[in-house]
Amino acid sequence: MTMDRKIVIIGGGIAGMETAACLRDLGWTPVIVEQSSALGGHVAEWNCLFPDLAPAGKLVDSLRAKVEGIEIHLDTVIAAINYLRKGYSLVLSDGTKLQSDAVVFATGFSLFRAEKKEEYGYGIYDHVISNKDLELWFNTGSDERVPDNPKAVGFVHCVGSRDIKAGNTQCSKVCCITAIKQAIEFKEKFPKAEVYCFYMDLRLFGRKYEDFYIHAQKDMGIHFIRGRVSEVSETIDGRVFVKAEDTLSGKPLRVSLDLLVLMAGIVCNRDNDRLAQAVSLPLDEDGFFRSRDNVSQLTLSDKPGVFFAGTCTGPKTIPETLAEARSAALAVNEYLKTLK
Ligand SMILES: Cc1cc2nc3c(=O)[nH]c(=O)nc-3n(C[C@H](O)[C@H](O)[C@H](O)COP(=O)(O)OP(=O)(O)OC[C@H]3O[C@@H](n4cnc5c(N)ncnc54)[C@H](O)[C@@H]3O)c2cc1C
Ligand code: SF4
Repeated sequence: MTMDRKIVIIGGGIAGMETAACLRDLGWTPVIVEQSSALGGHVAEWNCLFPDLAPAGKLVDSLRAKVEGIEIHLDTVIAAINYLRKGYSLVLSDGTKLQSDAVVFATGFSLFRAEKKEEYGYGIYDHVISNKDLELWFNTGSDERVPDNPKAVGFVHCVGSRDIKAGNTQCSKVCCITAIKQAIEFKEKFPKAEVYCFYMDLRLFGRKYEDFYIHAQKDMGIHFIRGRVSEVSETIDGRVFVKAEDTLSGKPLRVSLDLLVLMAGIVCNRDNDRLAQAVSLPLDEDGFFRSRDNVSQLTLSDKPGVFFAGTCTGPKTIPETLAEARSAALAVNEYLKTLK
């Protein structure tokens, strides 16, 4: 057995970085290929993390430190990937050729494009933004759609998730708790503002999530309204007018807001198709990569030497993503040990 085996990790988000760091600790040679100009993926764009409001930047910095010294190709995608009898041959977009004994897909997810739900007015009305836009505003304080002194703000759950018309019937898993986190952060910045969350169901499965919700409701005075938003329009003075049905009280509800935040869901990357075809991998019906099974073999694919880590197989939280990345590294380790 030789230890100079190379593993190409496609995607330098938290899944890719954690997998690479673990593989190096196990004695192998990981290489990260990242399409953007920096490591960190989506988490590098977030401000604070649920449920403790821990700074996202701190986590990303610690992972970047863990992968220091590893070969990393930024601003690079995979131009071609071929399965040979002894591993994989990859050509990168800058022409670099790599031979790899195993490949880990850590390509993550995309955010549902909120403008596709035209009825909510994203890109049409002045004060409608997405969950991602709000994270960027928390980080930079700059977005002209966010008014200086908002008096009323609404969050719409399930935008582009659990929605057959939007082409995604799955739950995105993290957006209920993200809405609660963002509502709390908003209320902390603007204590006098009324904050409304419009939800169908609250899916709060994680440890401490229920406490976070109760804190939002009881201590912060955030209003949770069970019911779908049926109409969004703009008033003559540029506010956002929302009609909804409160299905708990059975009453219709109308409210004028200074800002509406759409909780855009987690969907697959468009590039999955191309990558999957290149190595003859099946995709799930929703376009995410398909694991060997959904119970005990989440990081394994149907192809020898191809592994998955993180949200490229579906919505996950950060702790789940990191745990899976470590598990992927162990699976790769076992696989490499079987190679002659
Ligand atoms: C609004 C929002 C807020 C969230 N807040 C929290 C939170 O507070 N706490 C929490 O636990 N979870 C949170 N999450 C979930 C969290 O973002 C994910 O768990 C995490 O981003 C998953 O990391 P990943 O590495 O799998 O994917 P990603 O973050 O998507 O990273 C994938 C990386 O792969 C790269 N890539 C993609 N395709 C290619 C390719 N073909 N070639 C090369 N590189 C490629 C991308 O550029 C990216 O850098 C939130 C999610 C959303 C939508
Ligand atoms: S986590 Fe909540 S907001 Fe997100 S899709 Fe599921 S039910 Fe809807």
